[in-house]
Amino acid sequence: MTDDVSKPQPDALVQLLAASSALEPVQTTGPVQTTGPVQTTGPVQPEGASTNAAANPTAGNAWLGRYSHSLMGVFGTPQRVLVRGNGALVWDADGKEYLDLLGGIAVNALGHAHPFVTSVVASQLATLGHVSNFFTSPTQIALAERLLALCAAPKGSKVFFANSGAEANEAAFKLARAHGKKHSPEGGPARNTIIALEGAFHGRTMGALAMTAKQAYREPFEPMPPGVLHIAFNDIAALQSAVDETVAAVILEPIQGEAGVRPLSAEYLQAARDITRRAGALLILDEVQTGIGRTGEWFAGIPKTGANAGPNASDASDSRAAIGSVDVPDAVTLAKGLGGGFPIGALVTFGAGPSELLSAGQHGTTFGGNPVATAAALATLHVIESTDVLENVRRVGAVLRQGLAATKGVMEVRAFGLLIGFDLDHPIAAEVVRMALDAGFIINSPGPSTIRLAPPLILTEAQANQFLAALPGILAQAAQAAQAAQGATSTKGESS
Ligand SMILES: *Cc1c(COP(=O)(O)O)cnc(C)c1O
Repeated sequence: MTDDVSKPQPDALVQLLAASSALEPVQTTGPVQTTGPVQTTGPVQPEGASTNAAANPTAGNAWLGRYSHSLMGVFGTPQRVLVRGNGALVWDADGKEYLDLLGGIAVNALGHAHPFVTSVVASQLATLGHVSNFFTSPTQIALAERLLALCAAPKGSKVFFANSGAEANEAAFKLARAHGKKHSPEGGPARNTIIALEGAFHGRTMGALAMTAKQAYREPFEPMPPGVLHIAFNDIAALQSAVDETVAAVILEPIQGEAGVRPLSAEYLQAARDITRRAGALLILDEVQTGIGRTGEWFAGIPKTGANAGPNASDASDSRAAIGSVDVPDAVTLAKGLGGGFPIGALVTFGAGPSELLSAGQHGTTFGGNPVATAAALATLHVIESTDVLENVRRVGAVLRQGLAATKGVMEVRAFGLLIGFDLDHPIAAEVVRMALDAGFIINSPGPSTIRLAPPLILTEAQANQFLAALPGILAQAAQAAQAAQGATSTKGESS
């Protein structure tokens, strides 16, 4: 590679990576292990990893060997090393093609390497990449305005930009505490409790984790930030009795994604709005996974009105009609699909009350809302708005829903646009994920018997049918593999 880094060099990345493979692996105290010590519930390392690594330094196994020496083990061993994507397809380091039915966990809304998003991001980065929040930029302001319009947010509503779902929820956590401080009764008990639901997933940072229900995620890091109470899922009576004048906020996912795509009922959402309003608590919707067109509507839990309405907003037959919505929440958190693959999160506050709770100096971020991230989101929203993406989500989602329901070995199907969970008749979800990968499909198991799909919103009907055609074979192979493995270490479903 030429050393002149002051000029554009189209092949520079390829050369940087090639140069890196020539580097000696970092020496640890013992001998270097090429296959890596990380224990995994994912696929077993194929045989001959070290031989491949020596023969071909760009092979998947060579990269995974290096991964195990340089990346923290929190994700286990990655399933594959991915090098390239196009639309709903990705390719691994060994040249194998996959249909990506997980979309980076509901992130790659427009698939991989979308030309419009790519060009907008590149031109913004080449113009002005980052400024601190001592300054603002046109893309930041335009995106905030766009989001408020899409949310049909009332006058006085505002946006705070973060970099991830967890960070958006951290902001929501602070919003709840600020609300509680401002609205605690004189001389009465402090209003500082946050109510979340059993099965909830709100992220992995400490505040977000405190609102996340899963013991295995929480317990190693206790004590949690105090004041979060988890109550039964979709149980109006439990909510009614939990929400009193000590409650600052209730946080809900309209559809619990990590818990296996489980919707709250329309009645529950409406009751949650009524109960929180009466008690003076905030109602916060976590739409990190369900927002930005995922369900075939812009948002899962906000009503389809005005700018928020999709092309067929009144079509009662769409699967989205099965869940309800909140007339106006007090806040909504967004992330995953918002940047079309570029990291960005947002907290939208509805109306002047919630929007004025956090004042200058009370919250902040270095990266949040930077020009490139907000340009990526503007581009993503523009493509969804100006093409038939939402309609496609409803149509292809229905194809998958019907096809899955007709597949032997599939029990319940919970499909909301292209956010789909389905249960298997046996706890073999981990094997199904593995066999699907071998067959060229990326899917996910949020539980031992549950599969989740969250493909790019641009998935075609033909691609959906490809998966449906392969699924019976994948399920049969997985059942065989599970039987063969009986007595061996039991595998568990992984979620993120
Ligand atoms: C993924 C997710 C989060 C966390 O988002 P990160 O970007 O991983 O921090 C929070 N809430 C919900 C509902 C999610 O699905």
